[in-house]
Amino acid sequence: MNSQYDIAIIGGGMVGASLAVSLLPAARKHGLKLAVIEAFVMPEPSSKELQPSYDARSTALSYGTRKLLEQMGVWSSLAGQVSAIGRIKVSDRGHFGATRLDARDYAVPALGYVVENRSLGQALLEKLHQDGEGVVDMICPAEVTEAKPLGKGMCLQAEVDGEQIEIEAGLVVMADGGRSTLREGLGIDYRQQDYGQFAVIANLTPDRPHDHVAYERFTAEGPMALLPLTDDGDGQARCALVWSVPETDIDEVLAWNDEQFIDRLHQQFGYRAGAFVAVGERHCYPLKLTRVQEQVRQGLVVLGNAAHTLHPIAGQGFNLALRGALTLSEVLLQALADKQPLGSMQALGRFQSQLSWDQEKTIGFSDQVTKLFSNNNSASVVARNIGLVTMDLLPPAKQWFALSAMGLDVPEPQFFSGGGRG
Ligand SMILES: Cc1cc2nc3c(=O)[nH]c(=O)nc-3n(C[C@H](O)[C@H](O)[C@H](O)COP(=O)(O)OP(=O)(O)OC[C@H]3O[C@@H](n4cnc5c(N)ncnc54)[C@H](O)[C@@H]3O)c2cc1C
Repeated sequence: MNSQYDIAIIGGGMVGASLAVSLLPAARKHGLKLAVIEAFVMPEPSSKELQPSYDARSTALSYGTRKLLEQMGVWSSLAGQVSAIGRIKVSDRGHFGATRLDARDYAVPALGYVVENRSLGQALLEKLHQDGEGVVDMICPAEVTEAKPLGKGMCLQAEVDGEQIEIEAGLVVMADGGRSTLREGLGIDYRQQDYGQFAVIANLTPDRPHDHVAYERFTAEGPMALLPLTDDGDGQARCALVWSVPETDIDEVLAWNDEQFIDRLHQQFGYRAGAFVAVGERHCYPLKLTRVQEQVRQGLVVLGNAAHTLHPIAGQGFNLALRGALTLSEVLLQALADKQPLGSMQALGRFQSQLSWDQEKTIGFSDQVTKLFSNNNSASVVARNIGLVTMDLLPPAKQWFALSAMGLDVPEPQFFSGGGRG
């Protein structure tokens, strides 16, 4: 194992691993050495074990994300494990507003895809195993305990098997998740807003096929989403539920038995997806909007959940983070072509400015929607229902919403072309 790298990525979760995969061609072409440092043991590609970043959750990938995963060479191994979203139905419980999106109206095979995090993790790790030999060192399990700036780049202290090791890199990417302790250590400030809600996630068995429909349902207590999953091994339909529950109710919700859970779900969600006949294990996540104040420094980039956490209702956190990872790859490729150091502020400033509009728009939109649809005051109810009806009736408004949900209203990073945008 080296201790000197061109790029060291802290965190081998969905975002860190995606960045490493996207950097492989540039690393091969330019002889770069990469390290991915991950605190948890990474499962072997074929193993059924779960690593925390690749847990029981499912992720809605936008159509734009599919195109990026194709560029990364990951989509082909993932395609058999995703369920397409053909239509999205949005409704507001107890009110008239509703809208629908259909992939056929936008000449795309699907509006998006739902994948279990463990499948996405396996596809990424497989790609790193296959194509990363001699290019990427997976340093794992190893916890980075300290990061210090050097003249050029950064020096990391990591604990491996109870021993301290030192790793130097020209560029360090912190993809160490929403609870990053290194962020604090480096004095990187962030803003945080508690939504006062938890996301309860569970897989459900409906009594009829889901027909590739995804539902977004707004209720006074908080929004909920039901996503079509691939069938279980016996051909039984499955859906993934993300139910936002007020903080004050979470203990009660988690204490419900399966029958109570399904009953209460039917009360909030109705029978639009059929009747639910079984529910799997429930997990919950506190919901906060977090955003770092500084995403780049000389020799340092903060990426993924370490940089921003969003309310999951719009299903945009990973999609946004992947666009960030691939924009970084594109910018680094350009820096190599221009013979600039990878950690230079010239290169990293370009990364930040290329990404800022997408981040402002995506984070702002998911925050506004969550707030507008999470309360029952009469002004909000009128505004959101007029909004839903207007969108349903006005094709340009619907088109804007659909392109945004599909991640097609932002320029696609061109990280394999060797060019960049100059
Ligand atoms: C309920 C829920 C539903 C969601 N649904 C969607 C969706 O449908 N669509 C969507 O786009 N997004 C969705 N998201 C968001 C998405 O899950 C996140 O954007 C994504 O998981 C972020 O991944 P990450 O790699 O940045 O962070 P993490 O998954 O937290 O990974 C961080 C990694 O860093 C490692 N690490 C941490 N500290 C250290 C250290 N000091 N040294 C070494 N390693 C370290 C950890 O072990 C971990 O593997 C959802 C989120 C939630 C909570």
